[in-house]
Amino acid sequence: MARIGKLVVVGVGLIGGSFALALKQARAVGRVVGVGRSAANIYRAQELKIIDAAGAFDRATFGDAELVLLAVPVGQMRDVMRAIAPLVGEKTVVTDAGSTKEDVVALARRELKRSLARFVPGHPIAGTEKSGAEAAFPELYRDRKVVLTPLAGTAPRAKALVKRAWEACGASVFELSPREHDAVLATVSHLPHVLAYALVDQVARSRDAKRLFSYAAGGFRDFTRIASSHPEMWRDICLANRKALVAELGRYQGELERVKRMLARGDGKALEALFAGARDARDRWLKNRE
Ligand code: NAD
Repeated sequence: MARIGKLVVVGVGLIGGSFALALKQARAVGRVVGVGRSAANIYRAQELKIIDAAGAFDRATFGDAELVLLAVPVGQMRDVMRAIAPLVGEKTVVTDAGSTKEDVVALARRELKRSLARFVPGHPIAGTEKSGAEAAFPELYRDRKVVLTPLAGTAPRAKALVKRAWEACGASVFELSPREHDAVLATVSHLPHVLAYALVDQVARSRDAKRLFSYAAGGFRDFTRIASSHPEMWRDICLANRKALVAELGRYQGELERVKRMLARGDGKALEALFAGARDARDRWLKNRE
């Protein structure tokens, strides 16, 4: 792709840092400037050569940026958008990596105004349970999906730039409406995170937690890996998408009730059929991802 002259990453953590590293590895970016909340993290990002310089919420940082990526927790988006709105240049394209889209789009409509046509809402469907600049790595987006949820008035040039940038990171780009995005992600991402946190919480709060943890092995570890994710980030995601998430939790409770009834009546046939169906569905899903 044509090189992005100057990229500004606001929030140089796992997501923002990996975007910068991937673009650098693809030689698709000239200069990367990082803006953050934690001086220690920005310093570390410089040490790791994720960013070339530390910036600030000022005209010098944002005025001549070709692309700005907002990679902060979604609860921080309003303040960040408000801060950058008067600073970005006439041609600067702004995108975000927030895990929820209806709230981010609503905020952008309110806060970005002048540059709204050059705002391209996005969400890379890739991540790990780690956070901070230290966790960033250039291969994070390789063969992964990125969802863009452009607005009716989004400039084609802005969308094309963001699409090309993600493709340079190795990702495939898809489009959904913000509502479709949030409904889908509530099911396959937000619900599993809540379940993992809730299970660990349940065990941790039991009277013999120490003994229980001492016998926990691979199954518990695999099921709860994502409960090591960043609590602030997940608080924000759950609150932003709470309507869809509450509905999804209701459906899951219904499924658990179904399993509970099978167990209570000792219905091994029904239980095995459910397990077999779920295993086949998971195997097919894994195979299709290859
Ligand atoms: P992270 O904690 O690794 O990085 C976020 C960074 O933002 C931190 O360095 C933090 O200091 C900085 N920050 C917070 N508030 C700020 C502010 N007001 N101004 C400037 N910097 C600020 O988190 P992450 O995993 O990189 O997530 C970033 C975004 O990407 C979130 O919106 C998240 O929902 C989304 N996302 C995360 C994942 C994942 O699996 N981790 C996947 C896809 C999308």
